[in-house]
Amino acid sequence: MSVQAAKKFENFSAWFDDLILRARIADNRFPVKGFIVYMENGAYIMDKIRELLEDELEKTGHRKMYFPLVTSEELFGKEAEHIKGFSREVFVIDQGSGEQKLIIRPTSETIMYPMFRLWIRSHADLPLKVYQSVNVYRRETKATRALYRVREIPWNEAHTVHESPSDAERQVREALEIYQKVLERLGIGYMIFKRPDFDKFAGAVYSLAFDAWNPDGKVNQVATIHNLGRNFAKAYGIEFEKRDGSRGTAYQTCYGLGFSRVLAAIIAQHGDDHGLVLPPIVAPVQVVVVPIPFKGQEREIYEYAGKIRGALAGRWRAALDDREDVTPGEKFYHWELMGAPVRVEVGPREVAEYSATVARRDTLERVKVSFEELPSKVEELMRSIEANLLEKSRRMMLSLISDAGSVEEVKKILRDRRIARIEWCGEVECAERLKEEAGGEIRGERYDIAETPKGRCVVCGGGARFVVYVARAY
Ligand SMILES: [Zn+2]
Repeated sequence: MSVQAAKKFENFSAWFDDLILRARIADNRFPVKGFIVYMENGAYIMDKIRELLEDELEKTGHRKMYFPLVTSEELFGKEAEHIKGFSREVFVIDQGSGEQKLIIRPTSETIMYPMFRLWIRSHADLPLKVYQSVNVYRRETKATRALYRVREIPWNEAHTVHESPSDAERQVREALEIYQKVLERLGIGYMIFKRPDFDKFAGAVYSLAFDAWNPDGKVNQVATIHNLGRNFAKAYGIEFEKRDGSRGTAYQTCYGLGFSRVLAAIIAQHGDDHGLVLPPIVAPVQVVVVPIPFKGQEREIYEYAGKIRGALAGRWRAALDDREDVTPGEKFYHWELMGAPVRVEVGPREVAEYSATVARRDTLERVKVSFEELPSKVEELMRSIEANLLEKSRRMMLSLISDAGSVEEVKKILRDRRIARIEWCGEVECAERLKEEAGGEIRGERYDIAETPKGRCVVCGGGARFVVYVARAY
């Protein structure tokens, strides 16, 4: 680990809370538990994540819609497992005077599917692929945490309907590819898990999840994908005329990606003791030009800095920091805090040489280039920063995983703020005992790589059926 990132590994909470406020990401002081204010940089970055994801969804034939915020108790209760899973976490609007209570969406299955029933008549209407980017609301009972665990959750949810189980399976793979693409552009290191049965989405046949690493050793679930089989379609009566003329019940999938959790992963994985380190694609300011004035040459230097900004502005979100009451040193400090990927410095020497000094935020390396070379150099740096963030993050994730052969070893690994890999028999009792004694949750078996158990369950000593990962989680 680099010296620069020492604080975030030693005292993650304090580092994170301080950074999100100073870098104008979010203000956690709104006096209602679990509800936070997204300030200009946080809101901007989340909007870029949304654009990136929606672009991929559109390219693969998903269509954007907008559904109501509320559902009724009757609609909410139709799928038995679903209501069991969510009933304790929902916010309810009591309209009083004998009118029915309304439930604010904790997710939108029970709001969308009654409409799918009306829209779908025959196989020609399938597949149906819709999405929306909205807030959902969950009355978290655990301690809330800014961006990670909030009660107002900004996310994107997609819901699809299919005529066959194989088409639903194909859809799961498409969703996986979409999320992988988005998270990789953001340089996020993650593992894809098939969640154990006891932890799958309420009403799903199985659930896949993207767990991103965090400096404190906890994992941050940034996205999930669920194969719903026909569980909801049966409950909501989503039927269609099949190709052979008979009636069939549809197959469904749904998947969601949490914008504030992805934002948290960007901050936590890439940030250092100087501040944010933003992937170029989401940075509010991608390149900042900082003039370094010299007595008697102020005008030439500011003019040249303006010309440099102009040469870059067509391609990048470029800013000129021409504040006259702030020193260049303070400006460097400010833009490092804000995570601007590239900084261009312009002083008397650069004016004389018709050159520029370019610094990259991720490694803080500086290099001098000519004015003509500058646009291609910045282009190269942005690509290099994007690749470097992803590579560094993946390396860090691998270094956080350790094999454990006993509950005691799991406990020690978690205490060291790391992630344990174990062999497990598959019994819920063992998972519960592990959670009680070691404090971590079984996150599931890897879906992105194949791992075969060879030995015994670390808890009961019975034959192991799965290789799984244990971590504390947000
Ligand atoms: Zn066991």
